[in-house]
Amino acid sequence: MPLRIGLGHDTHRTGAGGPLILGGISIDCDFHLVGHSDADVLLHAITDALLSGAGLPDIGELFPDNAAENRGRDSGDMLRLAWAKVRENGWDLVNLDCVILAQRPKLSPHKAQIRQRIADLLQISPDQIGLKGKTGESVGEIGRGETLQSIVVALLERP
Ligand SMILES: [Zn+2]
Repeated sequence: MPLRIGLGHDTHRTGAGGPLILGGISIDCDFHLVGHSDADVLLHAITDALLSGAGLPDIGELFPDNAAENRGRDSGDMLRLAWAKVRENGWDLVNLDCVILAQRPKLSPHKAQIRQRIADLLQISPDQIGLKGKTGESVGEIGRGETLQSIVVALLERP
């Protein structure tokens, strides 16, 4: 059975005032992420991991950030469309493994809800999704709270 691995990475800078949109959910927080769409750093990294594993154009090519229809766009919507393209190319998902790099907020209270949201978007089971939060140990741009980043690997199989 052919297998493919895909890697996605994304960075967004923080801006004053919440809420924070992360992993498809809204989190009470005193900052938000800045971007053309809703700037959901985790969903963007997942989208790129899936597209990349299938050898398809990346999120920036599919949803250009200079296009009016992508302004403030729900990243869940972009993920669903990208996943449909990956499926059309004959790929199923074995699992996703996700890392969120954020000094704040504490992610553990939100992990179950984020995993469920991603599972709903991709029509998979939450146990196919690994999710870890890591701080920046108070150093660097992540530790100072200037950016949030996400790294995701996706394993695809062609049944
Ligand atoms: Zn992004």
